[in-house]
Amino acid sequence: MSDFSRQRREMVERQVAARGVRSPLVLNAMREVPREAFLPRQLQEFAYEDSPLPIEAEQTISQPYIVAFMVEALELKGGEKVLEIGAGSGYAAAILSRIAGEVYTIERIGQLAEKAASRLADLGYANVHVLHGDGTLGWAEHAPFDAIVVAAGGPSVPDSLKQQLKVGGRLVIPVGTDPRAQELVRVTRISESAFRSEDIADVRFVPLIGEEGWLPEKGELAAFARPRAIPSTRPDVLSRQIARHAQEFESIETADLAPLLRRIGDARVVLLGEASHGTSEFYRMRERITRELIEKKGFTFVAIEGDWPDAARIDHYVRHFEYSPKEWTAFARFPQWMWRNEEVRAFVDWLRHHNHAKPLHRRAAFYGLDIYSLYTSIGEVLAYLDKVDPQAAGVARQRYGCLTPWQSDPASYGQAMLSDGLETCEKDVVAMLRDILIKQNVYMSGGGEKYLDAVHNARLIASAEQYYRIMYYGSRASWNLRDTHMFETLKTLFEHHGSASKAVVWAHNSHIGNAAATEMSARGETNIGELCRNGFGNAAYAIGFGTDSGTVAAASYWDAPMEVKDIRPSHHASYERQCHECGVLRFFLPLRTGDSDLRGALMKPRLERAIGVIYRPETELASHYFQAVLPQQFDEYIWFDRTHAVTPFEAKKIDGLPDTYPFGL
Ligand code: SAM
Repeated sequence: MSDFSRQRREMVERQVAARGVRSPLVLNAMREVPREAFLPRQLQEFAYEDSPLPIEAEQTISQPYIVAFMVEALELKGGEKVLEIGAGSGYAAAILSRIAGEVYTIERIGQLAEKAASRLADLGYANVHVLHGDGTLGWAEHAPFDAIVVAAGGPSVPDSLKQQLKVGGRLVIPVGTDPRAQELVRVTRISESAFRSEDIADVRFVPLIGEEGWLPEKGELAAFARPRAIPSTRPDVLSRQIARHAQEFESIETADLAPLLRRIGDARVVLLGEASHGTSEFYRMRERITRELIEKKGFTFVAIEGDWPDAARIDHYVRHFEYSPKEWTAFARFPQWMWRNEEVRAFVDWLRHHNHAKPLHRRAAFYGLDIYSLYTSIGEVLAYLDKVDPQAAGVARQRYGCLTPWQSDPASYGQAMLSDGLETCEKDVVAMLRDILIKQNVYMSGGGEKYLDAVHNARLIASAEQYYRIMYYGSRASWNLRDTHMFETLKTLFEHHGSASKAVVWAHNSHIGNAAATEMSARGETNIGELCRNGFGNAAYAIGFGTDSGTVAAASYWDAPMEVKDIRPSHHASYERQCHECGVLRFFLPLRTGDSDLRGALMKPRLERAIGVIYRPETELASHYFQAVLPQQFDEYIWFDRTHAVTPFEAKKIDGLPDTYPFGL
């Protein structure tokens, strides 16, 4: 037995039990908690003296006996929800945590609150929750409590605390008009409106300072207010909880992904988000995770929020199809930087290398889920039919010709249909898709991958025709059509690759996070994240990404040039601010399998920021923030406190690369 353990046993016998504390729960807790761990190093040798001892900020850790006496006076049976006012060193909270189910403790001095929180976490007292704030107001968010104990003396019993007591609950508090000498009072709530009060001992406690306690002395207020004013809205509990559960990593390259892969388990679809379309860290971490999913879990394909024909160029390159070069460049339209950037290029090069010399069925593929390639897709279907069925190509030219007048501005198609009362092209594009599907057996003999490509382009044309037609009925309908198209494409890819296939989806947080958990649902919007969750259940794993500040590649308006813009520090009412304030710079935060208290605390809706290809910092709150419930939106959240813009590259002839290189001219 160590010296401290021996001293602790003696302390319990001589100072606590000998003075009449009988509760086995209390005596056991006192035997268990190492008081020395709650003291400054130079005072640890006095840990089991029969007295209070000084701690930081001129406060005290209470005498062991008085802690035991007060806890016994709470008459706990085990498993209760208890509130402590005056966390101090955290020692009494640790004692309570051995008996109660959950302990909530409030400390008014920030330095002490922080130290107590990290000490309790380090020592493994996971059911203690620390708040920096004014304890005389209680902790309404977690009320009512079975018991409340106050470790500082007030002039009277704070009404807020009485109101936060359950009927039948006990409140133990030192009360007296002399700030340094009090009666220990036990208040029992006997009904909604009635309380019984008993004096149970004479005690001396440091003053309870707060709105329903003593006023601070002048000098004292200044000294304590300087490091951090006591917040009236108490925002920082959550950030400390996040800090405790954040799984920190040093860098993208060295992060240990094994725990994440374990959490992903047997998921069939992993959706990897991003809080902007122009942040290097999001791309690189997504790619690192994807590489591991492909290498270690045999994921079959990557499907991105990008156009099908453009992604197909990359797919052909990475799977070594070596088709003859095309005369157009992949991802060369606005917003080019979203996929034409060094980060994506590194992944494409890796994937080509990874696939090298593997049989076709084991090469990982790369697809686009988006809907914006109407005219490129028409060109691709025509080129395909020219080769496999020239007669059908003639019919297709005629049918798709219906859309030609709007080629340069497809968005005006819907408006023209409405205002001019023209017959839409719907019948034509649907008929073309049907014809291609009917001839599957004939066309497949010319190559399954090429057929899949043509079918997808024909399907995309049909969806895009509808998309541009309904755009004028409002953004909800077109958004839903776009995300439904993405989901349907994903399902078709699963069918194509077989029942054992697995997919990684790369898209913005607003697509992959469950729409039902955000204000999108109030607008009647869905997304691929919600459709996957409903369709695949726990076999879909959605990971959101977030940042506080840094730079981002974005434009000021549609079709405007890309700029590297400064991201404003996150809004004070956002999840991002809580992550920023937790002080950990880069971390994984498991939300599906993680700590239930943290999940509970995160369930309160907050703002979340979304930067797309446009970023307007000057109107940020209105244009980029929305309400969300993070743990319902994502299964996991990855945080980078400061982030940097992606590095775009120009379309140019790149020497030394094959003619089929999708990013070259
Ligand atoms: N329970 C503590 C322990 O085990 O170390 C000892 C507490 S110490 C005797 C009293 C604590 O109450 C001090 O740390 C003081 O800062 C804190 N305090 C005083 N007024 C407070 C208030 N209104 N809200 C929260 N804490 C308060």
